[in-house]
Amino acid sequence: MSTKRTLQRPDGFEEGASRPVVPPIQPSVVYASETPDSLDDQYEGRVQGYTYAREGHPNAVSLARAVARREGMEQGLTLGSGMAAVTAALLGLTRAGDHVVGGDQLYGRSLRLLAEDLPRLGIATSRADPTDAEAFAAAFRPETKLALIEVVSNPTLRVADLDGIAELCRARGVTLVVDNTFTTPSAIRPAEHGADVVIHSVTKLLAGHSDVTLGWVAAKDPAQQKAMSDFAVTTGMTPSPFDCWLAERGMMTFDLRFARTQDSAERLAAHLAGQEGVTKVLYPTRADHPDRNRAQGLLAGQGCNMVSFEIEGGRAAANAFTKGAEALAFAPTLGDVGTTLSHPASSSHRALTPEGRAALGISEGMFRVSVGLEEPEALLGAFDAGLAAARAARG
Ligand SMILES: *Cc1c(COP(=O)(O)O)cnc(C)c1O
Repeated sequence: MSTKRTLQRPDGFEEGASRPVVPPIQPSVVYASETPDSLDDQYEGRVQGYTYAREGHPNAVSLARAVARREGMEQGLTLGSGMAAVTAALLGLTRAGDHVVGGDQLYGRSLRLLAEDLPRLGIATSRADPTDAEAFAAAFRPETKLALIEVVSNPTLRVADLDGIAELCRARGVTLVVDNTFTTPSAIRPAEHGADVVIHSVTKLLAGHSDVTLGWVAAKDPAQQKAMSDFAVTTGMTPSPFDCWLAERGMMTFDLRFARTQDSAERLAAHLAGQEGVTKVLYPTRADHPDRNRAQGLLAGQGCNMVSFEIEGGRAAANAFTKGAEALAFAPTLGDVGTTLSHPASSSHRALTPEGRAALGISEGMFRVSVGLEEPEALLGAFDAGLAAARAARG
């Protein structure tokens, strides 16, 4: 039997006079080569070829390139979750004895990685306020190797001083890692503002349909990219080909979804601000937001799709609100096609004491909204129904 047999396409998949318009899914875990010599050519980079899916596969590479193009970066790596991407950066680029500074309002699991796992491996960590570059600088030590920030914080939607922190990191030779999940390349491309490494939870706005868990990480420096890639392949952070394919499909409508949900978010923020019983509305481009000027400059006036607000009446009113706003999913995610509501005090920030939450401005009446694609008037109506129920519960 000829060795060619394994290199043939299965019946029905031959190239013909026409081509498919949709990218294919390639679920193969292994790839057959012709000879040991051709494998040498492949491993030594003279020809392109895949070997084993944990090391890389076409759907992961295709998705990684699609995200990289949007971020204006040359390369990137798709991983099995956003947390895999954070882990690949934090553990792939540090060693025992190093020090890492993180923003003080990072995604919960990123905070946990800094608080629990890095110290366990001999990597010291500190947290600092990324909206204040001087406060951030004060946390640096001679052995600081890496800083991790998010551009817009959860759930208070504070905007980091990315340019100030980038300057600081450049001056001290510290690798700046920016998680761009909330802001997306539509609002900002961190690599153009001095970030060395950019991260996404593709699960959220990029894929956009709450049906895949995926992450992406990219470094400007090829040596850093290789270090993260080697670590991710060794520790098995492999994404599924089908998930990569779904995410790439989701990304085809990303620009449209982002523009529409951002418009609706701005409208929702304005609408909520006028309602009885609403004590606070947080949206980065609003006149009363503390980082409004930075949102105008850094984010070019784009407030993105997240809105946070606070109602009077504590937990009882919050319970009444989610029941009354029955058209909205009360679910701890963001970036879905449908609007989702999260209640930080009972979910993302439940591990903190009430005093700890109060210090961040998170009360029992606070909600974070990820605005979706609903018809805007219907969306405002759903919030009005929730607010009416909360008012009734207050009596
Ligand atoms: C959700 C999220 C993550 C983690 O992503 P997963 O895909 O859930 O692992 C990391 N950072 C931010 C800002 C997130 O919102």
